[in-house]
Amino acid sequence: MKKIVILGAGTGGTAIANKLRQALSRDEWEITVIDRDDNHVYQPGLLFVPFGICTVESIIKSRKKYISGGINFVIDPITRVNHERNRVETKGGSFDYDWLIIGTGCRLAPEENEGLMDEWGKNAFSFYTPETAESLRHAIAGFKGGKLVMNVAEIPFKCPVAPIEFIFLADWYFREKGMRDKVQLHLATPFPQCMPNWPKGRVVMLDAARKKDISISTGFALQEVNKERKYIQNYAGERIDYDLLVIVPTNQGDQVISESGLDDGSTYVPTDKHTLKALHHKNIYVIGDATNIPTSKAGSVAHYEAEVITHNLLSEIRGKAPEPIYDGHSTCFIVSEKGKSYLVDFNYDTEPLFGKYPLPVIGPFSLLRETRMNWKGKLGFEWVYWNILLPGKRTMLPPTMTMAGKKQEP
Ligand SMILES: Cc1cc2nc3c(=O)[nH]c(=O)nc-3n(C[C@H](O)[C@H](O)[C@H](O)COP(=O)(O)OP(=O)(O)OC[C@H]3O[C@@H](n4cnc5c(N)ncnc54)[C@H](O)[C@@H]3O)c2cc1C
Repeated sequence: MKKIVILGAGTGGTAIANKLRQALSRDEWEITVIDRDDNHVYQPGLLFVPFGICTVESIIKSRKKYISGGINFVIDPITRVNHERNRVETKGGSFDYDWLIIGTGCRLAPEENEGLMDEWGKNAFSFYTPETAESLRHAIAGFKGGKLVMNVAEIPFKCPVAPIEFIFLADWYFREKGMRDKVQLHLATPFPQCMPNWPKGRVVMLDAARKKDISISTGFALQEVNKERKYIQNYAGERIDYDLLVIVPTNQGDQVISESGLDDGSTYVPTDKHTLKALHHKNIYVIGDATNIPTSKAGSVAHYEAEVITHNLLSEIRGKAPEPIYDGHSTCFIVSEKGKSYLVDFNYDTEPLFGKYPLPVIGPFSLLRETRMNWKGKLGFEWVYWNILLPGKRTMLPPTMTMAGKKQEP
């Protein structure tokens, strides 16, 4: 019996396990997925928790329920990958493999940011985990007014659009509460131009922020959180005062990656950006946030990658070479208030453009435009996530980006 072991039963690990189980004979291939717990979090929902738009309970489901029959699901922390012996060690056992797929994602490391732990859970909060999102919900509900600063400590971090969505939703939330005039909103981001390298998207987002009276500092890489005087400071010495700090702390790959010597010093696995194969290992593929490839750390990316890795792994099993298919394709809604959203679709070479998606002319979604239909798409995506994408069902959409429906101008 040949063995495939998948590390992590998150977005990428679950989707690819189910896809491979559909494609490979149960008599010849054993598939094992390992995760530390049984709680699958629908992470895009975390954005809504601080504003009471959804609850933490509604976005967490049992991982087991989404892993098909015929897959061995193990709940146990992974402690080491012995890639010389093709063996994964967990707290309670060990698993040999012929092929390994790494889908261990990335994690928050607030302890890496000077001064942040002094304020963590007091005046500084995140919304990237169920626990932090729930604490932030209480902090926002009790906020009487003042300076709310949304800061991203450093690049790379997962879901690069979530901070701007957060500050847009904060504008909506305090308007609804009738206290917007008491709250100053400020986004401090390390991106030199507010967004990733998106010339057209940046103009649209900056215009939206200006209309909402949100101030923005760009190129702001966090050096220090000062609890006594309540400011954040960047490496150039620029300071921003806060009353309530919402922060995406440093993101890192899981410790097991570095401790197993699988990273390049960045805590992420060096990965071929087109084949998705680990650069230094013949029998390892990497999916989702655990890679070091230059596209968004996003669920849509993990789904597109699951199709490419399935194709390439099956090719290799049949004695063919992996193909350089993946183009960095990513698709993200950018919520601008409750009820409206933008949408972006891009890849390594093509920035987000205007137009319709997924069908030319018909859409129904609009690219780089704020629409109610996009908001419906954002909400509907949760159903698609649980029922189509995680089970590894085929969608009509190719994993690579298409120019159909795209336009250079609005
Ligand atoms: C607030 C927020 C909003 C987001 N919004 C969007 C959005 O709108 N659209 C979008 O496309 N993406 C969005 N994302 C990003 C998206 O959720 C992630 O990029 C995606 O889940 C990555 O999938 P993954 O499989 O790489 O990692 P994950 O889904 O995080 O899974 C990694 C798994 O590995 C397990 N693991 C790690 N280390 C170990 C270990 N040592 N032992 C055992 N198990 C381990 C973890 O428990 C976890 O289950 C958002 C993320 C956040 C935080």
